[in-house]
Amino acid sequence: MEDFIQGKKDEMLQLIERLVNIDSGSYVKEGIDEVGSILKEKYEELGFVVDVKEENENGNNLVIQHRDAKDPKIILVAHMDTVFPKGTVAERPFRIEGNRAYGPGVVDMKSSLVELLYAIKALEQNGSEAIKNVQIILNGDEEIGSVTSRPLIEQLSQGKEYALVMEPARKDGSLVSARRGGGRYTLIVKGKAAHSGIEPEKGRSAIEELAFKIIQLHSLTDHEKGISVNVGLIEGGSSVNTVSASAVAHVDIRISEMEQAEYLKEKIHEICSKTEVDGTKIFLEGDISRPPMEYNEQTESLLQIIQDVGKEIGISVRDTATGGGGDASFTSASGVATIDGLGPVGGNAHSEREYLEIDTLPERTLLLAKTIERLTD
Ligand SMILES: [Zn+2]
Repeated sequence: MEDFIQGKKDEMLQLIERLVNIDSGSYVKEGIDEVGSILKEKYEELGFVVDVKEENENGNNLVIQHRDAKDPKIILVAHMDTVFPKGTVAERPFRIEGNRAYGPGVVDMKSSLVELLYAIKALEQNGSEAIKNVQIILNGDEEIGSVTSRPLIEQLSQGKEYALVMEPARKDGSLVSARRGGGRYTLIVKGKAAHSGIEPEKGRSAIEELAFKIIQLHSLTDHEKGISVNVGLIEGGSSVNTVSASAVAHVDIRISEMEQAEYLKEKIHEICSKTEVDGTKIFLEGDISRPPMEYNEQTESLLQIIQDVGKEIGISVRDTATGGGGDASFTSASGVATIDGLGPVGGNAHSEREYLEIDTLPERTLLLAKTIERLTD
């Protein structure tokens, strides 16, 4: 299998180049769908059936499995959208410099899409039955919160034993074994305007009220428990000599265990249900809706299997936790043993400096193929 994959390295890079050079930002539906049709054709050549779930505004989602698949136990998830708007490819198309490839979405995650396809090709070429044990979801809206694909991922997670999620490996090659969950709130405080020189006693300061709320909300942060409550943006007031009539705060919440969500929701509502500055009012919007990908016993045993496979092929595979959310949170919250970060190694995702470490492409493809095989035995 190793020789087969090594021999395909240039072909893989060519396909990555082709996919990177299609603008497929989350709001560029035609680009995402073009990436989808290229991959659909490739999977069909391998005897796979591709079910295109048409979407009106977002990119289509694809569900792919072998035509003879029976009750596959492994779900693989990869996304086709990027964070880059239309026109990015014209500005900075795919290019290679030394051992690194650059371009919009090169590592997050056009290379992962190619890695996954070639892992399947390698298994097929090897006559492995494992190709009948996988169900693949290629979704088109991960970068905007998987609005349409989340229910699909949750539904198809039912009855699966393992989820392998194709986000890129970390810069140091680590897989991802935990992700924090979270949500967003917006706090709107209404007060009463008054001239601060002439009749300040008639005013009710929304900014003053918001200041209390910011401190109370931040006090919910508990780094040891992995809870973070951050008021990251505030707006308010109309002029320096006016008691402010309104103020707004945008709050980002991160949690590391699902049960922290209920506790925090309650606390946030409690804090916002009363005011310190008489005569002000608070309106609260938002929710904690993204579950964390929790590190638990089944994560540990899946990780162990992947590490054993890594040892056999000479890659030491470490793991790490990350604060960012992703589709792995949905498979994990559905009760399926999940490991993320199975894509090739790279860095600076979501920026102009995004890169892929080209040498890691064949080795990660081999790691993925052998892992799928091992999980099937
Ligand atoms: Zn991604």
